[in-house]
Amino acid sequence: MPDAQMGGGQMNVSAGNVTRSQNNSVLAGLEPALFFGFFEEISAIPRGSFNEKRVSDHIAAFARARGLEVYQDGVWNLVIKKPGTPGYESAPTLILHGHTDIVCESDEGVEHDFLNEGIKLRIVGDFIHGTGTTLGADNTVGVAFAMSVLASDDIAHPPLEVVLTVQEEVGKGGAQVLDGSKLSGTRLLDMNWHDPKSLFAGCAGDISARFKIPLKLTERIAGQKAAVLRISGLSSGHSEFDIHLERANAIVLLGRLLRLAMKETGLGIIGVSGGVNRYVIPGEAEAIISIDPSRIAALQSAIEAEGKTLATEFSVSDPALKVSLVETESVSTAVFAPEVAKAMVSAMNLLPNGVQSRSLVVDNLVESSNTVALLSCDQERIEIVSTIPSAVSSRRYNIVDRIRELSEVIGLGSSVETFADCPEWPYNPNSRMLAAGRAAYAKEFGEQPHVEVSHSSLELGLFRKKVPDIDMLSIGPEAFDVHTTRERLNHTTVAATWRLLKALLSELRT
Ligand SMILES: [Zn+2]
Repeated sequence: MPDAQMGGGQMNVSAGNVTRSQNNSVLAGLEPALFFGFFEEISAIPRGSFNEKRVSDHIAAFARARGLEVYQDGVWNLVIKKPGTPGYESAPTLILHGHTDIVCESDEGVEHDFLNEGIKLRIVGDFIHGTGTTLGADNTVGVAFAMSVLASDDIAHPPLEVVLTVQEEVGKGGAQVLDGSKLSGTRLLDMNWHDPKSLFAGCAGDISARFKIPLKLTERIAGQKAAVLRISGLSSGHSEFDIHLERANAIVLLGRLLRLAMKETGLGIIGVSGGVNRYVIPGEAEAIISIDPSRIAALQSAIEAEGKTLATEFSVSDPALKVSLVETESVSTAVFAPEVAKAMVSAMNLLPNGVQSRSLVVDNLVESSNTVALLSCDQERIEIVSTIPSAVSSRRYNIVDRIRELSEVIGLGSSVETFADCPEWPYNPNSRMLAAGRAAYAKEFGEQPHVEVSHSSLELGLFRKKVPDIDMLSIGPEAFDVHTTRERLNHTTVAATWRLLKALLSELRT
């Protein structure tokens, strides 16, 4: 239930058991005070992904207390409507967007109960940090800006639909289910960008593909020894932000090592694993193999030689690359059937991986890529999950079709299923929002902003499913290392973003 008795003042708040007064405010004194009051207020509310009810109720009560129309859905997405100010009553409606959930990470040894505790803010020089945890500036910033605009009566703006989504950090779940019929705006300003000197104006879409090979087992040859074939020490990184760095992929290279190992007569595979997350370039992967004891030393030297070749190939991108074959114990009496092992190794080597195409419109932008991200097996099947971002839908789906074609060539009942399909937000040099952003920036700061387009897939692409011709732009103050415990917000850059936001709102009269 919304906290109906809440007054909504930003410096003295009581919502559930979150109580704070101006006296113990950490951010008091920072400007703009309105923004930092809301930032601190929202930071005090626990709100990891799937735990957004409380923050949603809190903001809904804040809006209702101001007489604003509030729509709250079953997963706690919010849509809050505020009419245009005088002179802007009939301007095109603007959607102001942020997300309420945050990434919950803590340093080793730090006990933080994210379900029940808010973030303990700290100021260090120009930066606001959490205390041994993520800060959640991604996207408390957007929420606090939205609340600042809703609370103000001296900012000129068009009719607003403030949309605060949930579960953004875990597959964009809130935006996936948001009821588009609640939106009438065809322009959107997002506030989840991290650079005050640039405007963010486009991103890739992405889709994931699960390649499945049914597992058939055969009896392990008696007297064989087990060994772990392992590749580790790779630089890893984000599958979308870091793909242009041409880093080695542990699953793909394990495929290469297994191709070599399988030249050994009678070698069996007991199990495989690799990768941590479908958005991370895998930095480690391993296979447990079964081999005749008399052949271990020979295979070790072959693997060592191949390891040296790989270290040379990837000396720039992955200087700590390491390959090893170490004896281990295994009570397993079965190995993958030879044809299944061969199929898996072929898939590991032949699945598209890395940069597939570069943009010819935007400099230094990867247009399409694929990351072979996860490798696993259980009693039933082997699975290899790829994540495929692209700024061009047809190219994204073509990569999926190539993966399907590979499964047809491999046969053995292998198949491909796709999930988490998110459309791109194509860069549009003629965007009205971009023109307004440029004009507002030039007016406030006397120079032109940079315009950025990203190869990562953002929640904003999903708004194109709700509002097909939506025109979008994203802005935000400087933040670093989001999603990690080093996350920090440069509080000295917030005032500039606030100025830009107000100037942009006033530009949108037509
Ligand atoms: Zn995030």
